[in-house]
Amino acid sequence: MKKPQKVLAEGEALTAQLILSLRTQGVTDPLVLAAIERTPRDLFTPELFKARSWEDSALPIACGQTISQPYIVGLMTQALTLEPRARVLEIGTGSGYQTAVLARLSRLVYTVERYRTLMREAEARFDALQLTNVITRFGDGSRGWAEQAPFDRILVTAAAPEEPTTLLEQLKPSGVLVAPVGKGPVQKLCRYAGDGAGRFAMEVLCEVRFVPLLDGVAREQ
Ligand code: SAH
Repeated sequence: MKKPQKVLAEGEALTAQLILSLRTQGVTDPLVLAAIERTPRDLFTPELFKARSWEDSALPIACGQTISQPYIVGLMTQALTLEPRARVLEIGTGSGYQTAVLARLSRLVYTVERYRTLMREAEARFDALQLTNVITRFGDGSRGWAEQAPFDRILVTAAAPEEPTTLLEQLKPSGVLVAPVGKGPVQKLCRYAGDGAGRFAMEVLCEVRFVPLLDGVAREQ
């Protein structure tokens, strides 16, 4: 007799489709895929775009910013080579989606956002998901978070105009930093890996399109 097949709820089916698509594109780390699978992206998208939450595309959020494309979230998270004991610094909280994925794979995530509205909304989402290992800060993240440095991993989710030297100084000697680097609309996604003795080897992973990492004051908006 034919075994009855489990009928997936619509959300589950869309999630499964997205995970399959990420795997096909090269996000193969099972822990990263599981973290994405367990993070309901529809919690992070604005009302107007809820129906498109499971598409593999970036979407607009408040303050003229964007929630990253799931493939890019997967790629950057995989490139960070996280360990469960890692203390991670993220610059550019945005919706908090990438933060939530990081929080499932590391001990502590420090995240900085320069729009107060986005920070508040993201904090409410971390509470709803009971992510108690996320520490938020409203302010300019281009200078990092010196009081909490050094970090095992640093992820920048806005485009740094040039090599992020200030942030590299806040990384442990054997740490990893991933950031889009470049001034134009298309940037290079760079991975810096420390050799343990103060030198960082840089590798370009691919081309990406991120909103710019803006220097200067934070916005009360
Ligand atoms: N990973 C996020 C992407 C957000 S877009 C997500 O998936 O939702 C990048 C974010 O970086 C924006 O919210 C923007 O406001 C923020 N940002 C830009 N420059 C910044 C700075 N100097 N300090 C902190 N956040 C910054």
